[in-house]
Amino acid sequence: MNILLASSELFPFSKTGGLADMVAALARALANEGHEARVVTPLYRGIREKFPAMRKVDWHFDLPLGASWVSAELWELDVARGLKIYFIDHPGYFDRAGIYQENHFSYADNAERYIFFSKCVVHLARYLPWRPDVIHGHDWQAGLIPALILQQKNAGWQNPPPSCLTIHNLAYQGVFPAAAYALTNLPEDFFHTEGAEFFGLLNCLKAGIAFADFITTVSPRYAREITTEEYGCGLDGLLRRRQKQLVGILNGVDYGEWNTTKNPHLFKPYSVGRLTGKEINKLKLQKMLGLPADESVPLFGTISRLAEQKGVDIQLGALSEMLNTKMQFVLLGSGSPEFERGYRELARQFPGKIAVRFGYDETLAHRIEAACDFFLMPSRFEPCGLNQMYSLRYGTIPIVRATGGLDDSVVDWTQNPKLATGIKFSDYTARALAKSIRKALVLYGQPKLLANCRRNAMRADFSWERTVHDYLAVYQRLTGV
Ligand code: ADP
Repeated sequence: MNILLASSELFPFSKTGGLADMVAALARALANEGHEARVVTPLYRGIREKFPAMRKVDWHFDLPLGASWVSAELWELDVARGLKIYFIDHPGYFDRAGIYQENHFSYADNAERYIFFSKCVVHLARYLPWRPDVIHGHDWQAGLIPALILQQKNAGWQNPPPSCLTIHNLAYQGVFPAAAYALTNLPEDFFHTEGAEFFGLLNCLKAGIAFADFITTVSPRYAREITTEEYGCGLDGLLRRRQKQLVGILNGVDYGEWNTTKNPHLFKPYSVGRLTGKEINKLKLQKMLGLPADESVPLFGTISRLAEQKGVDIQLGALSEMLNTKMQFVLLGSGSPEFERGYRELARQFPGKIAVRFGYDETLAHRIEAACDFFLMPSRFEPCGLNQMYSLRYGTIPIVRATGGLDDSVVDWTQNPKLATGIKFSDYTARALAKSIRKALVLYGQPKLLANCRRNAMRADFSWERTVHDYLAVYQRLTGV
């Protein structure tokens, strides 16, 4: 099957979160299964220099954007057998210091940038000599693709491929003033409450939900949650109406990147049968981050965007209660300056107990996963979450709030001590999280139980080899192939 994927970020070319990892791993898994996957993504600053093997395609396109015409060029890179990446080259939109924002301010022309991106994807789908059987867009940045396909179908595109939209996070919808709708050049009758309109505004994700032939999201529990008012972010009504075309598929992990045996980022490799390497990773990280290097102190960690969603407020509350006990905590995060201040203040209060690093650091992320005994992920909501699955593979027991993909991927110690892979709690409170940390300290004091939990965690399989079949089933349902 030929699958054209569209994503505004793609690892290792660009990344702000799990979306980039997921699309890269899905595309690779499809290619490994013998399908032909191609991914369209923007050519952001620095990518060309880092990947000199990419070639310019002899194809220049001019597309209408509102009243003007905008042109772009195309680059391509063959990554593996059956896997090609197309980069949309428009320096005005994409040659910038950030992907979506700079200095915590979203770019003012994000509507224009990603409407144009979506148009490029549809243009490629229609005019490439290679014909996709299905077009699979991701998140709001690709949300207008199904509507654009429908528009072209109405204007004479015969048998366009069916479209699938994956929602990675319903909280980000790409909502813009109604005036931005003119940039889509879509017919006026697509702008209504069952289409692209959201309280008089343009909502790119809503347009995707309304017009896509099929919708997926990244865990079964999140698929159920988003049809409720509590988690539906204003779109639960529409999602309920489309429930027959909505499934949740838990993301897989790219174990080629995220593993403990062959990983250039780690201080020392280790495996479920040889855990001494994990201790060395712990001691080295403690030293590197200026914490007392002591193997006997339980080390907790978090790697996260510092956003409301991630449960920063209850984490700060629980840590200030718990850091008086024998434990250490490391944080790698980037995001809201206000949350950064919160962690800095905590570090000031508990010297020698907590190390915080702000910014984006792939190597440090691997090192923290490898070094820690426990990983904290107390999200308010979590569509899938990748870090808890990385933690499992790294033998770092995840402590998670039972929501979305966190609930689907972790087996709780209290509920099922034998098969446990982590610790779960339900109430979104600092107290509930602190209680779970206390539970973790008890587990840490029971080497046999801890070893069992760790073994279960490291053996859990969230590989794409399994997950990819669920996506293929969706594509098959859509194409009848
Ligand atoms: P989300 O997509 O909501 O940010 P996920 O858990 O699904 O959350 O994915 C987060 C991804 O981003 C993981 O690969 C994680 O390691 C990475 N990540 C998040 N923050 C940082 C950071 N500051 N430095 C390095 N990697 C980070």
